[in-house]
Amino acid sequence: MKFELNETESKKAEEFLEKHRHPEVYKGAIGGHINFIFTPTSISDACSIHCTICDAEENITDYSHW
Ligand SMILES: [Zn+2]
Repeated sequence: MKFELNETESKKAEEFLEKHRHPEVYKGAIGGHINFIFTPTSISDACSIHCTICDAEENITDYSHW
């Protein structure tokens, strides 16, 4: 099983990271508090991104290539 982000998904991930940098509370490496959650489905792999600081989650799956 191999998980890869395509260009659209990487862009969404970057935007999420930008929104969830939490510089006021998070002093570690960039993206260190962000979890990627890959969910294999019968069609393709769904990808979500989760911020462990504010507990926000966003589905960044690019369904256009499914
Ligand atoms: Zn956040």
